[in-house]
Amino acid sequence: MKKILMFFIVPLYIVYIITTFSMPKTSSVISAIYVFTIAFFILLESKTIVALKKTWYLFALATFSWAITDTLWAFHEVYKGNVVEELSIFTYLYMITDIILLMIISIYFLENIKKWNRLQLLIDTIVITLITFALGSALFYSEIEFSLLSLEEWVGTVGYLTVDIIIMIFVVTMIASSRFRKVRTSIKFMATGLVIYVIADLMFIDTVFTGKEIFGVISDILFYGAFLLFAFSSYHANKDPKDYYHNVEKMPLNYGKSYILWWVLIVPLILFVFGRISITYMASILFVLVVYQLLSHYVQKLLLTESLYHKEHEITQHLEERIKERTVQLEQSKKELEKRAITDSLTQLYNREYFHEYLEKKIKEKIPFSIAYMDLDRFKVINDLHGHPMGDRVLVEVSKRLHNISKSGYPVFRVGGDEFSMIIESVELVELESISRLIKGLITQPIEFEHYKFNVDASIGFARYPNDAQSMSDLVKNADIAMYHAKAKGITAKHVVFSSDLIEQLERRNHLEILLKNADFKKDFDLYYQPQFDIESGQMVGMEALIRWHHKDEGFISPAEFIPLAEEIGLIPQVNDFVFTEAMLQIGRWNDHYDKNLVMSVNLSPLTFNSVDFYESLKSLIDITGVNPSFIEFEITEHSAMNSSQTMEDLFKEIKTLGFSISIDDFGTGYSSLSYLKRFNVDTLKIAKELIFNIETNEDEMMIVEAIIMMSEALKLHIIAEGVERKEQLDLLRRANCHTVQGYYFEKPIPAHVLEDKYFRKSSK
Ligand code: C2E
Ligand code: CA
Repeated sequence: MKKILMFFIVPLYIVYIITTFSMPKTSSVISAIYVFTIAFFILLESKTIVALKKTWYLFALATFSWAITDTLWAFHEVYKGNVVEELSIFTYLYMITDIILLMIISIYFLENIKKWNRLQLLIDTIVITLITFALGSALFYSEIEFSLLSLEEWVGTVGYLTVDIIIMIFVVTMIASSRFRKVRTSIKFMATGLVIYVIADLMFIDTVFTGKEIFGVISDILFYGAFLLFAFSSYHANKDPKDYYHNVEKMPLNYGKSYILWWVLIVPLILFVFGRISITYMASILFVLVVYQLLSHYVQKLLLTESLYHKEHEITQHLEERIKERTVQLEQSKKELEKRAITDSLTQLYNREYFHEYLEKKIKEKIPFSIAYMDLDRFKVINDLHGHPMGDRVLVEVSKRLHNISKSGYPVFRVGGDEFSMIIESVELVELESISRLIKGLITQPIEFEHYKFNVDASIGFARYPNDAQSMSDLVKNADIAMYHAKAKGITAKHVVFSSDLIEQLERRNHLEILLKNADFKKDFDLYYQPQFDIESGQMVGMEALIRWHHKDEGFISPAEFIPLAEEIGLIPQVNDFVFTEAMLQIGRWNDHYDKNLVMSVNLSPLTFNSVDFYESLKSLIDITGVNPSFIEFEITEHSAMNSSQTMEDLFKEIKTLGFSISIDDFGTGYSSLSYLKRFNVDTLKIAKELIFNIETNEDEMMIVEAIIMMSEALKLHIIAEGVERKEQLDLLRRANCHTVQGYYFEKPIPAHVLEDKYFRKSSK
């Protein structure tokens, strides 16, 4: 549709020009059709124009208004034959188009005002207004006798003139203000159209004053030419690139040199040549323009400086932002690095380095505090049996639990493989006790991964600042010593708080460690036997083998001291090897020689179960010694049995299938759980001497002993009471139906030959 209309517009214009000279009436009709076509064309274009849509609708409206007026004109001329010039109504009707055009240019002007530098705009406007009005008044206003004008004449002259001058001022100002950027084609067309329109209007007014007909014809041709340019303008408004206004330089559009106003000089020059204005008039206009140019030069300079300042400011701001961003990034990575430097990568707890740093800081504060040193018990076993990845998982889980404590304000550190540390803001023993309970409570809860279940425990040592040590290294060392003692004490110790005598004990322990490592078991060690008796008959029914270490320099060293040490330094297999062989051979010889069926009790360290080839070693023991395994009963402490896992249960089964019996040692001191007795299929319960000690004086303990005996009868378990030292104890036990007794009341542990002399030879005599 648009294309069809466009196709018609130019030919119509040409036809109009031709007819206007020869057939004025036809030309009136053609002009009406022509303007209508343009009006429709602009309307159609307006729909798709993006920028300043409303001005384009107004253009269409202005053109329509003109077209309608033209139609009425043609109607009058062709059909009514009226002398149209005398119809004043047309003066008002054509005015509508003028006013709409004024509106358009005003809107345009206002919309653009933001893009211009105000100062330059101001002097542009002033000078243009000055010149335009000067010329206007020289040409027209001076000719008008205002007081003699009718309303119609007033509109037809002053009205048109003023509107035209204002439009002219706007258009020229806008052209003058488009210095910086290339002017869009659509705007060029629009501005030219408007200028031509105004010129046509002025020429038309001039005919009113001069009466020259030819000016009237030329003005008409110019009017329709202006409409043609509006049509082209609307067409280009749709074609011009959309981002035309995108101003990267951020400069006002009226920045830069402009010589447009020198062109304006042409008008007064022509008028001067034609004698319409005087030389003084001409000179004054020239003067105004020179002044303007100077001012403009100054403003432009100012504008450049300002823009440079803005640009600099912008760059500085941009840089500052970049610096800020960079600083934030740097700070973040610094924090990250700092965090990494003080964090343990596996557990995310604080690391050893930070622990030392933290301690130094705390010591400088000179405020009393304590440190806890904890070491997981037998963690090596988890690593050895299940591999390091599983060990790591357990460590991570333990750390998570410890981290919960650190949330309450006491920082937790991982200071070694399975060693952790904590700083406590207190030196009160009660507080340390409760911390110890808290730690134990958290980490002893079974750790379960898939089908694995681990029972973890820790030994905890405390050292207090400044009481136990004043320097960081001493504090750490002493906490470590305390922890070590907690570990050596085994399960009964929850924690140990450092005291100076621990150092002596430690020295003794280190000394013993060296001795033990260099000991020759066959030469330096010995087995003593403590007989066990049937409570009814008084006959010896068995004995317990107890290891003895007579050192040539140190003298007698108690197994209560060196067995835990042997456990710790991994010497239990050697101890077992010695004790098992010795005890088996001994009982085999005795039973064989004296034709007895005595049972030899042998103590088993719980650590024995960690050795993978324990079963095999027992089997080969039977083969080597050739002794009936039913002569041997293994004593396992209540706690180690309790603390057992599935593998322990299997081991018990294996021991039993080989033909050995199993006894629970020190029963009644620990958890006294009966469920495992059934589970492990044990043969004997050995009531702990700690319970027996008080039965004559402590009724409660007697009741416990009675209960144990009654219960073991129900479970069909054999009962041995150990540590019987007095006759009263024996009597009470007899009354309680205890089966077997062992203790100093009868005999201390004695060498084999003494026992043989005293109990076998005597009885065989
Ligand atoms: P235990 O298994 O409870 O051994 C009994 C301890 O009580 C022995 O101390 C024995 O001398 C003592 N005893 C016996 N009757 C009485 C009594 O009437 N009153 C008092 N006060 N004590 C009595 P011993 O021989 O010093 O052994 C201490 C611990 O060393 C044993 O405790 C046992 O756990 C361990 N042990 C001893 N020999 C061996 C061994 O060959 N292998 C292993 N793994 N551990 C052993
Ligand atoms: Ca024992």
